[in-house]
Amino acid sequence: MEKIAKKIQMVDLKSQYEKIKTEVDSAIQNVLNNTAFINGPEVKEFQKELETYLGVKHVIPCANGTDALQIAMMALNLKPGDEVITADFTYVATAEAIALLGLTPVLVDVISDTFEIDVKAIEKAITPKTKAIVPVHLFGQCANMEAIMELAKKHNLYVIEDTAQAIGAEYYFNDGSKKKAGTIGTIGCTSFFPSKNLGCYGDGGALFTNDDNLAAKIRKVANHGQSVQYVHDEIGVNSRLDSIQAAILRIKLRDLDNYAAARNKAASFYDKAFANHPKLKTPARAKFSNHVFHQYTLQLIGVDRNAFREFLASKDIPAMIYYPIPLHLQKAYLNDRYKAGDFPVTEKLCDSVVSLPMHTELDEETLKYITDSVLEFLK
Ligand SMILES: *Cc1c(COP(=O)(O)O)cnc(C)c1O
Repeated sequence: MEKIAKKIQMVDLKSQYEKIKTEVDSAIQNVLNNTAFINGPEVKEFQKELETYLGVKHVIPCANGTDALQIAMMALNLKPGDEVITADFTYVATAEAIALLGLTPVLVDVISDTFEIDVKAIEKAITPKTKAIVPVHLFGQCANMEAIMELAKKHNLYVIEDTAQAIGAEYYFNDGSKKKAGTIGTIGCTSFFPSKNLGCYGDGGALFTNDDNLAAKIRKVANHGQSVQYVHDEIGVNSRLDSIQAAILRIKLRDLDNYAAARNKAASFYDKAFANHPKLKTPARAKFSNHVFHQYTLQLIGVDRNAFREFLASKDIPAMIYYPIPLHLQKAYLNDRYKAGDFPVTEKLCDSVVSLPMHTELDEETLKYITDSVLEFLK
């Protein structure tokens, strides 16, 4: 097979930028001209536009997705000793924010076909100390929020949605209504890291809530614990989205649904090429959510994953492992609660998953080259 001319990347931000270059460059220049680098008008405008897009009352921008999670837990007054339930199969930031505040991360397993947190496992993990659940909308589709919200209501728990990988995804309720990921729980948290579905050109993040009092509290926590300048009611943090990032995000937000459509087109191409292959399990779609494909993640069945990746690398095709080690087996998070074998689904996934290039700029020629190469290795 002939190699293709264009360099294949997990995420191609350069080609995406080239399509919006004129707008982005002038938006950045505009911020430079105004020199309102912090809390400039772009931040407020972006906040309002994202509120409208998500259908949520309050968006509070902050410095990154990890901060968003930490600020959420601070704003909810969670205290050392409180237990917070989250998925074992996620990016470390989710558990990190919990642990940094002295709260106890309580990990639970996920469902193997959708990779989403297992609601039955959440229910089993609830104790009198449990204060919150942090579902992660992993790889771009929603966790089972309706069931999670019911559990939370029954046990009087907060729900903090980690929607860093699923901004723009939609959740479908049993009654036919729908809501955007991150706007269903008590607070939603997201990241605008460059490679996320709505990524800026640096770091950024935000929190979402429909609760007016909580929104005021979040703003205060994110701003050194002050709502009046130099009057500090509590200990807060310093976490801001800067004006240049907000200006870029305003432009990219207008394209977010098109970006999701482009990702879905690539995912369908992969699905079709790999359908019913005995050595591949394609990512399942949850009934209650659409998918915005932050990642396209295969499960390999009886395949040497290192050899698979090496073969693809020899064809200049990157493939990544999200995530190679379950949280409960990470050195930093080892404790008496958990041992190897406790979360069999996550442990199996960590050994068998592989993510293929997924972004907004994949053309058919590239996709065909990737799928042909994958199938060639598996022959
Ligand atoms: C990226 C990510 C975060 C953290 O976001 P940062 O902006 O990098 O701090 C948190 N949770 C999940 C699931 C993520 O993918």
